Amino acid sequence: MAGSKYAYVRNFELPDPLLPGTFMVFRLDGHSFHRFSDEHGFTKPNDIRALELMDHAAKDLMEQHSDIVLAFGESDEFSFLLRKSAALYNRRQSKIISTLTSQFTSSYVFRWSSYFPDCPLKYPPSFDGRLVLYPSAREIRDYYSWRQTDTHINNLYNTTFWALVQQGGESTTQAHATLKGTVSKQKHEILFSRFQVNYNALDARFRKGSTLVREEISEQSLPTTEELPPTQDLPPSETAAPSPIRMRGRKKPRTTIVVLHCDIIKDDFWDTRPEILS
Ligand code: ATP
Ligand code: ATP
Ligand code: MG
Ligand code: MG
Ligand code: MG
Ligand code: MG
Repeated sequence: MAGSKYAYVRNFELPDPLLPGTFMVFRLDGHSFHRFSDEHGFTKPNDIRALELMDHAAKDLMEQHSDIVLAFGESDEFSFLLRKSAALYNRRQSKIISTLTSQFTSSYVFRWSSYFPDCPLKYPPSFDGRLVLYPSAREIRDYYSWRQTDTHINNLYNTTFWALVQQGGESTTQAHATLKGTVSKQKHEILFSRFQVNYNALDARFRKGSTLVREEISEQSLPTTEELPPTQDLPPSETAAPSPIRMRGRKKPRTTIVVLHCDIIKDDFWDTRPEILS
C-alpha cells in the first residue's frame, strides 16, 4: 500500500515471532468468573451446563485450527497444545493470542443460549489468554499434570466446601474455617462420614476435567454406501462432514474431536496417542 506521510508510525509495530520448533501452550481463563458464575446462577460446586459450554467452545477452536492437537479444561479455563511445527499466523505471538482468545470468547457467547436457555446473559463475559513456549515433551507432560492436579485439588476442596454449606448448614465463613489446614485425606473423611459421599465415585468430568483430542474415524465403523440413504434425499447439513461417501479417495484419515474425562498424568494416555507429542 502506498505510504502517506503518516505511514512511518507503522515502523513502531515491532515483530513478535515465536521461537520455531517449540511447543506452544495457549491457556485462557474466564475474567472474574467467580462473579460471573454467581450472577448467572451456576450450580455449585460444578455447573455441568457451564462446563459443557466451555468444552463446546474449545471444540470450536480446535475445529478452526488443525495445529491444536490437545485441549484440557477445568472450571473457567482451557489449555490448548499446538504442535511444534505450527505455522499459524507465521507464529506471530500477539496475533495468535488475540485471535484465539477472541474466537473462543465469541463461541462461548454464541452458544450460551443452547446451554442456558432460561438465563440470558446479563453482561458480556470475557477471557484472558497467554501463550507459553516449551522446549520438550517432558515440560508438556508436566504442564498437563500440573493442570489436572489443580483440577483435583480444587474439586475436592469445592465439593467438601459446598457439602458443608448445602447439606451441613454451615455458613461460607464457617465452611472455610472448617477446611482450613485440612489435608486431602481429611476432606475425603468429612465427605464420607458426614455426607455419605464417596469422592472417587463422583462424575469423572468433575474429578478429571475435560480432555479433547482428535480421533480417527475408522472406516469399518461407518456404514457402507449401500446402507446409506440416497444423498439427494438429505438436506445439505446432513451431507456435511464427516461423510463416509466424501471420505472415499481421501488420503488423510478423517478425524473427529472427542471429549474425554480421563487421567492424563499417567503414561497410558500419551503412550496410546504418540502423535500428540510428535
Ligand atoms: P480471574 O479473573 O483472576 O480469573 P476468577 O473469579 O475467574 O478471577 P478463577 O480462579 O479463575 O477466578 O476461578 C473461577 C471461578 O469461577 C471458580 O472459583 C468458580 O467460582 C467459578 N466457576 C467457573 N466455572 C464454574 C462451573 N462450571 N460451576 C461452578 N462455578 C464455576
Ligand atoms: P484480516 O483477518 O487479515 O484482518 P480482513 O478480511 O478482516 O482480514 P481487513 O484488511 O481487516 O481484512 O479489511 C476488513 C474488510 O472487511 C474490508 O476490506 C471490508 O471488505 C470489510 N468491512 C469491514 N467493515 C465493513 C463495513 N462497515 N462495511 C463494509 N465492509 C466492511
Ligand atoms: Mg485466576
Ligand atoms: Mg478466571
Ligand atoms: Mg480459573
Ligand atoms: Mg481484518
